[in-house]
Amino acid sequence: MMGECALCHASFPKAQATRHVTACLKARAPESGQRVKALHLRVEGKYNPEYWMQFEIASAMTLYTLDDFLRQTWLDCCGHMSCFTIGGQRYSCEPFNEGLSGRREKSMEARLYKAIPPGTDFAHEYDYGSTTDLVLRSLGAHEAALADPEVRILARNVPPKVRCVRCKKRATIVEAGWNGLNLGRCFCKNCADSETDDEGMRLPIVNSPRVGVCAYCG
Ligand SMILES: [Zn+2]
Ligand SMILES: [Zn+2]
Ligand SMILES: [Zn+2]
Repeated sequence: MMGECALCHASFPKAQATRHVTACLKARAPESGQRVKALHLRVEGKYNPEYWMQFEIASAMTLYTLDDFLRQTWLDCCGHMSCFTIGGQRYSCEPFNEGLSGRREKSMEARLYKAIPPGTDFAHEYDYGSTTDLVLRSLGAHEAALADPEVRILARNVPPKVRCVRCKKRATIVEAGWNGLNLGRCFCKNCADSETDDEGMRLPIVNSPRVGVCAYCG
């Protein structure tokens, strides 16, 4: 569960990530460019928390920007639906409202500083079929030169090492169809050719909680 800081390149256990990144942000040399209010967020897989990130994002951006960042970095395979749940309220990429008594979703147009004040725990779902569930927390706010891009990764888990079940070399391919990283079906390139039926059943082992799901290739 080791991670690496994007600011100073130190490595540390996941449990020390927040303390390290918060200190590193405070010690960061003043950046040139226009400074804006930024949020310091952390995210991890709900069912595979060995995949995690801490990042900063301009607080005037909307939940769409955050959703887009999560898709680009970790999730997007074929443009599935997604939503955040914050304090029991769902914020969907395509809001669905059903009558007066039914489910009421909001859009992702909500600004981050309003929707997720520091200290807020919230959730993200991508793909309502083979869902990748993420849990997030807003850790605090600071100032940063964050115009373009509006999001910057501050720290991230080191990719877990996976061994080929056949020859014990480093595995780079997982067989598709198991809805996740089935350690019993991970192979190196050579063994994957002989152990899996066709190329369509081979997915790359990527550093993401969506590894091995649907057609996710990183
Ligand atoms: Zn650091
Ligand atoms: Zn997909
Ligand atoms: Zn092998």
